[in-house]
Amino acid sequence: MKEKKHEQSNSTGTPLHKVGEFGLIELLTSDFVTLSPHTIQGVGDDAAVIQVKDDHCVLLSTDMLVEALHFDPIYSSFEHIGYKAVVVNLSDICAMNALPRHITVSIAISNKYFVEHLQALYKGIHLACKEYDIDLVGGDTVSSLRGLTISISALGIQQYPRIAYRHGAKPGDLLCVTGNLGAAYLGLLLLEREKQLFLKNPDLQPVLPEKYSYALQRQLKPDARTDIIQLWQHQDFIPSALIDVSDGLASDLLHICHRSNVGAIVEESKIPIREDIRLMALDFNHDPITCAMNGGEDYELLFTAPEDKLPLLRYMPDISIIGEIVPKNEGIHLLTTGGKKVPITAQGWQHFSSPKEKK
Ligand code: ADP
Ligand code: MG
Repeated sequence: MKEKKHEQSNSTGTPLHKVGEFGLIELLTSDFVTLSPHTIQGVGDDAAVIQVKDDHCVLLSTDMLVEALHFDPIYSSFEHIGYKAVVVNLSDICAMNALPRHITVSIAISNKYFVEHLQALYKGIHLACKEYDIDLVGGDTVSSLRGLTISISALGIQQYPRIAYRHGAKPGDLLCVTGNLGAAYLGLLLLEREKQLFLKNPDLQPVLPEKYSYALQRQLKPDARTDIIQLWQHQDFIPSALIDVSDGLASDLLHICHRSNVGAIVEESKIPIREDIRLMALDFNHDPITCAMNGGEDYELLFTAPEDKLPLLRYMPDISIIGEIVPKNEGIHLLTTGGKKVPITAQGWQHFSSPKEKK
């Protein structure tokens, strides 16, 4: 899940923002070699893949959410926080073409919270478990000095040949995305705007117009696309590469391209953005395409498929073909509606921002 920018206060050593989130993960994990023959996929995809018996593999993924960075109790209810914390983890299992089945939930809580807050959090967790057929099978509970931290691990099971990875995209493949993009980010902008007004004048009631309700729902109560995974299972379709859109189309497409050693071309006119979301972006003085490319938290599935799957994909519900995979030397570009080719760069979220960037 995306987090807000925050200050890095070390005065000695290498500042975290110099290496960035992905650079840091690479730096910390690159010396680890896989020891078990059962580890099919370690660090580097949306979930680890561990062979259990014959073709059967367990998918395992973990995400941590920190108060004030990933969620803000000022504008998100504890029920919503719990629900969303589960969904973002389930999405990472879907991003391997598998269905999630189990979660563990660990929490660190400070004494500023009451039992009722945590009951509300677990009400949201429970609701997500019921909606997605998930068993809560464990976790850990500790105290913290400040605020609330939630760490969730999700598990799924899938047959080895059906698992899809970030690598696997080939030149000529179609580039596709489920659902629509950009709404969750606009929902966040609306909540941030109301929070700032509230902090200036606590007597003011938040104004959350009905016309923005879809964006709010996408931010506060997102969906994991288990429905699409079920559909693909049913239609016996396996993407050649797959990732979930958690950091924005640009950043997540770059992951597929880097892992698959390919380039890509995305057609601006094909990026699925709802009409109400386009209008909302304009209300907030934002370019709707930028919201889709760099917003994030949509939890849709970005995937590639060989061209001969076109007839199947055309009739798949809720799927847009937005471009094509090209050889690596052709780069990664957005083809604008005006016919210009603009390079797509990792403008997505930087988890460790430079102190200078702080406003
Ligand atoms: P996602 O956005 O899909 O949750 P991340 O970008 O968080 O994926 O993580 C990318 C990969 O790096 C994953 O395989 C994840 O398990 C791994 N990873 C992230 N942080 C660590 C860490 N501190 N130690 C080991 N592996 C990590
Ligand atoms: Mg992911």
